[in-house]
Amino acid sequence: MKVLFVGVGEACDDRFPNTSFVISARSYGNEERNILFDCGFSVPMFYWKYFPDPEFLDLIWISHFHGDHFMGLPALLLRMWEMGRTKPLIVLGQRNIQEVVTEALELAYPGFMSRFRFSLSFLECEPGKDLELNGLRWAFAETDHSKRNLCVAVTSPDGTVCYSGDGRPTSESTALAREATLLVHEAFDVKPAVPGHGTVDSALSTAEEAGVKNLALVHLQRDVRRWHELQIERRLASTKTFQAFLPRPGDRFEF
Ligand SMILES: [Zn+2]
Ligand SMILES: [Zn+2]
Repeated sequence: MKVLFVGVGEACDDRFPNTSFVISARSYGNEERNILFDCGFSVPMFYWKYFPDPEFLDLIWISHFHGDHFMGLPALLLRMWEMGRTKPLIVLGQRNIQEVVTEALELAYPGFMSRFRFSLSFLECEPGKDLELNGLRWAFAETDHSKRNLCVAVTSPDGTVCYSGDGRPTSESTALAREATLLVHEAFDVKPAVPGHGTVDSALSTAEEAGVKNLALVHLQRDVRRWHELQIERRLASTKTFQAFLPRPGDRFEF
C-alpha cells in the first residue's frame, strides 16, 4: 500500500494544508484502488499537484462535517468536472453524508452537480457495520469530538491503514486500530488536553495499546507544531514497539 500525505495541518494552519492523505491499495481482487481521506478547505489545490489525473480517485472518505475535513469537496469535484471525468466516484461517510455534501456543493456552485459527467454516489457508514467495498474491507468506530466523527480502518491483502479523523481516542477507536500496519492519528495538542481532541501522548498510548506497527501524527495545533516540533520528534524517536513519525505534506509511506 502506498500512502501520500497531502496535508497534515489543522483548520486554521498557516503552514500546512488541512489533514488529508491518499492511499493506493491493492484490492483482494488484485486491482489498484485510490482513496482520498478527508478533503478540507485547503486540500484541493495541493491534491492536484500530486494527482493531476481527474480519473485517479475511486473513493473519498469523509470523517466528519467540520470544514477542514469536507469543505474542499466542491472545488475538488468542480475541477474533476472541468477536466472531463467520467469514472464513477463514491463518497463514504457517516449518516447524512449525501445531504451535507450536496448542500455544500449547491452553496459553492449552484446547479453544477447536475452537469457532472461522472456518477457521484454516497454510502453511509456506521460503527458495527463492516463493509466490503471495491475489494477492500472497511470498519468504523466513533472518537470523542465536538462534532460526531468516525475513525475508519481499511484493510487490503497488504495490511491495514486506520485513520482517526478528529477526536480523542475511545476504547472503540483503539480496538479498531488493533494491529494496524499504519495508524494515522490526530494529536492536536501536548498536555494539557483540549476537550474533544487527542494529544501526542494519547496517540502514542493508543498506538501502544492497539499494537500498531507505525504511527503518523497529524492535525497538530499550529503553534504546538511550530514551537514544540523538535521536542515531539524526540519523544517519537523513543518509542520502542512501533515506529512513530510526524509527516510533512508530500511525504510518502509504503508497506
Ligand atoms: Zn473536527
Ligand atoms: Zn479538524
